[in-house]
Amino acid sequence: MPVLDDYAPIVGEGTVKELKLLGDRLAGQRVVNVNSTRVGGGVAEILTRLVPLLNEVGVKARWEVMSGSEEFFELTKKLHNALHGRPATFTAVERETYQRTTTANLRALDLEADICFIHDPQPAGLIAARQSLDSRWIWRCHIDVSAPAPGAWEFIAPMVEKYDLSVFSAPQFARSLPIPQALVAPSIDPLSDKNRELSKSECEAILTKLGIRSDKPIVTQVSRFDRWKDPLGVIQAWRLARQRVDCQLILAGGSATDDPEGAEVLREVRQQANGDPDVHILDLPPTANLEINAIQRASSVVIQKSLKEGFGLTVSEALWKAKPVIAGAVGGIPLQVSHKYSGILTHTTEGVAFWIKQLLSASDFARRLGENGREHVRNNFLLTRHMRDHLLCFLYLLKGPENIIRL
Ligand code: UDP
Repeated sequence: MPVLDDYAPIVGEGTVKELKLLGDRLAGQRVVNVNSTRVGGGVAEILTRLVPLLNEVGVKARWEVMSGSEEFFELTKKLHNALHGRPATFTAVERETYQRTTTANLRALDLEADICFIHDPQPAGLIAARQSLDSRWIWRCHIDVSAPAPGAWEFIAPMVEKYDLSVFSAPQFARSLPIPQALVAPSIDPLSDKNRELSKSECEAILTKLGIRSDKPIVTQVSRFDRWKDPLGVIQAWRLARQRVDCQLILAGGSATDDPEGAEVLREVRQQANGDPDVHILDLPPTANLEINAIQRASSVVIQKSLKEGFGLTVSEALWKAKPVIAGAVGGIPLQVSHKYSGILTHTTEGVAFWIKQLLSASDFARRLGENGREHVRNNFLLTRHMRDHLLCFLYLLKGPENIIRL
């Protein structure tokens, strides 16, 4: 497992030194993170690396995962979708399910800490423990809550309002709240198996094992099989593009344990692909980090055709590999992609198709987009910047109204 000093060649000695100094100010402070899945999706991805690094600089960070029944995760998926804007109503039985699950987790989880760092709506109700614990509470929202369906924000607002601090990924997600709000963009780990350098031969070996040929350019989307990621739209766009330029498509996905819709979407994707030998649908296990790394590196173009997106770690992952990315102009994606500078932003299936063809035909332009994207990620979306933001949030909460942090 990489240690902090290993990041210095990538982000500079100064950044690493600053993290250690911030850690000194927080030495021994206990931080417990709580989310709802150990594997799958962006939150798990980030916590896997951030928790060990916080410990390395002296913070006593832990990670607890809440549990819930199928019924609970059906409800929270509906809530997640409604926060993204899909209309929904919440029945008294569902509210009762949420309440019951919260109570069970309050009993089961060890929340004894100086800071409770709660991720997303599923565990938001744990704030009920605040009365008995002398701790500071952060609610971290990883989803796009800029235009929720009626009733969705109201479902969680009474809980969120009890926190000491709320954290959102992008300025447009900020809500009207009586508590302070911080903007913290997510990040990728450049040294993880998902993102570390791979040699050409390593990549080739992995792709051969996955049954992907190298005789045609590869266009890829890596995403959970989720409607907001629009995998059916990706297939449509690729089909339109292929009328002009020969290429193959990889849809690499998997499911998260807190996402019950995945299997259904995967079925629809398979149906839409209709056995086309140039469409590779890969249902990968959550441990397939090297595989995703190799797929992204072997791709000529990476797509992230999201219709709604909290941030879209897959975009930064592809940009870090200097790939030209075509992505939906939604949620946190425009933070990562400046149109025609560090990637391409689109709003339509036809737009994605047009740009697949353009980028496969104009390799110099595509290469420049990728290189600019990589530098943008280096400066903004690597784990070290994220860690610094978290340390600053902890200092803000623990050091009271003092505004100056002396290092
Ligand atoms: N991912 C993965 N396997 C998959 C699909 C996605 O490991 O089959 C990873 C992907 O590489 C990224 C994360 O899961 O690191 C997804 O984060 P993102 O913010 O893109 O979307 P989310 O799933 O959180 O909506």
